[in-house]
Amino acid sequence: MRACPACGLPALDSLFEKNGFSVLGCRCGTAFVAEPPKPAELRDYYSLDYFKGNREKFGYIDYAAEEPFQAESFQKKADRLGEILGGGRVLDVGCATSSFLKQLGPGWEKHGVELSVELLKAYPPPEDVKVWSGDFLAYPKNEKPFDAVTLWDVLDHVPEPKSVVRKSAELLRPGGVLAVLVGDRSSCFARLLGKRWHLYIPPTHLTFFTRASLLELLKCSGFKTIRHEYEGRWVPLSLCFFRLSYILEAAWVRKLYEWSLRSAVRNLKIYINLRDVVTVYASKT
Ligand SMILES: [Zn+2]
Repeated sequence: MRACPACGLPALDSLFEKNGFSVLGCRCGTAFVAEPPKPAELRDYYSLDYFKGNREKFGYIDYAAEEPFQAESFQKKADRLGEILGGGRVLDVGCATSSFLKQLGPGWEKHGVELSVELLKAYPPPEDVKVWSGDFLAYPKNEKPFDAVTLWDVLDHVPEPKSVVRKSAELLRPGGVLAVLVGDRSSCFARLLGKRWHLYIPPTHLTFFTRASLLELLKCSGFKTIRHEYEGRWVPLSLCFFRLSYILEAAWVRKLYEWSLRSAVRNLKIYINLRDVVTVYASKT
């Protein structure tokens, strides 16, 4: 049986099946997909349709159209990073349409990594953002270390999150900051929904942390937690129905979602905080 990708212990037991994938649990609190797709399959998975509402892939309705909504949430994160570091060289892993990097002020030298070549072609990054396309684990070792590495909604997508955290540590200067956002399966909302929780979406998500198991992984990888928080975010109403349709799998929710896409409420702004997504800022010791 596959070992835990967060702590390395052998899996304890099988928790549930979802979307044809078996999900295993570890005593550290992390859950994970028993047989994750191979790297080449993952690369194919994140083709442009993932970002354009392909339901089979549990992706986005329209990533670029959601950008104005994400901007507000990312602005808070950019402010927080500014409070901690002031500025410097930052690398955003899984930068997509550079929506986070665009929120950073002029005190930052902005770098990104994005696996989806198609996405970069469709939405080229702005001039002040340098994007490297490929698997983050193959990111070239730079002579000049980074002051900050950001992993917004990344660790739940990868089969080997420990390697991603260790790679981030390699690229950071001592005292540099790693910022991580993941779903928290120990949250009340996740526990209430069980396997229907909207972030249990294999193979889009492959690793499912608790806040404690994430903090432990960071500690074991040489990071000291500065702060953690459960921030809410602004989303279009249509996205709420989109996600709800995954949870309930009921025809009426699907109809509600389709109606919301056609009507004026499509982009109605809703603030959501289910306290099931945790953001952690940690410094390299
Ligand atoms: Zn574990």
